[in-house]
Amino acid sequence: MFYQQEKQVALQAVSAAAQLCEQVRRSQSSLAIAKPDRSPVTIADFGAQAIICQALAAAFPEDPVVGEEDSSLLQQPEMADRLAQVTHYVKSQVSSATPELVIAWIDRGNGKVSKRYWTLDPIDGTKGYVRGDQYAIALALVEEGEVKLGVLGCPALPLDLERPDINIGTIFVGVRTQGTTMTSLSGGQSNLIRVAKSDRLESRRLVESVESSHGNITLQAAVAREVGLDLPSLHIDSMAKYGLVARGEAALYIRLPFPLSSPQRENIWDHAAGAIVVEEAGGRVTDMHGHPLDFSCGSTLNNNQGIIATNGEIHEAVLAAVSKLA
Ligand code: AMP
Ligand code: MG
Repeated sequence: MFYQQEKQVALQAVSAAAQLCEQVRRSQSSLAIAKPDRSPVTIADFGAQAIICQALAAAFPEDPVVGEEDSSLLQQPEMADRLAQVTHYVKSQVSSATPELVIAWIDRGNGKVSKRYWTLDPIDGTKGYVRGDQYAIALALVEEGEVKLGVLGCPALPLDLERPDINIGTIFVGVRTQGTTMTSLSGGQSNLIRVAKSDRLESRRLVESVESSHGNITLQAAVAREVGLDLPSLHIDSMAKYGLVARGEAALYIRLPFPLSSPQRENIWDHAAGAIVVEEAGGRVTDMHGHPLDFSCGSTLNNNQGIIATNGEIHEAVLAAVSKLA
């Protein structure tokens, strides 16, 4: 079986990062700091990136990592306390951690897209994380522009949305040609998951962002209606949305630009792990024009507009609805 070592290392690293994130959230140190682009970051984003980059550096020293965070904010003199906090939490997972090593590990995540690379979002959905809602730790391996492995840790996601109070914490793993599995973050059996046929009642819905500014909500709702998804939409933060499509709790995750002509492009780390999780569960993922996502052209999806992830069955109908209504 290909990618077994990559899978083990990635699973272990994402699980350790998930523990750190939950520990920080429980201790209520998960206050957001504003980055220069005004997006939020917390000490857990830095800690998770440090843990995962350290593990990848040890196992695959040649592989670049293209991650969301860098250490420049943490290195400012007035941030010394935060750096000490990050180091404290990283140390609980990697005992050799020092402030200097933590900085170096975080910045190992500032590699370039190349023939083979990893891409990492240490906390996707930081706004959800800070609010106490859903978030994801997302790590993917890309070779020749194609995602080969994706690990999506969702520490606040129950194994079954119908039973929201038990088995909280889910990890999804998709490996090219080997399927997608789902496991509880607290351990136990891994099960292969599949997307659901659209006639399954509970999957007849769309899942989209909580943040209305992250998509084109009017058009997204119109597309869902056009293809017959008649249940109320689910609103969930982060790439956990891909997990819901992969395990049949929604038939469609749609993310359209607003305005449609917006020059802004999606980040690779916001989609790589989720896309393979859906594809290997039997679904389809393209942009709004039906083009495959192109992970070979830098840290953003420059050749793609919008994201459509479906159970496969309704994909062509969704593309037709988008082109009719957009
Ligand atoms: P979600 O949890 O689905 O709302 O997605 C969170 C991701 O949205 C973050 O990782 C950001 O990279 C991304 N994001 C931030 N602002 C925007 C925006 N205006 N449009 C689309 N995505 C955005
Ligand atoms: Mg993100």
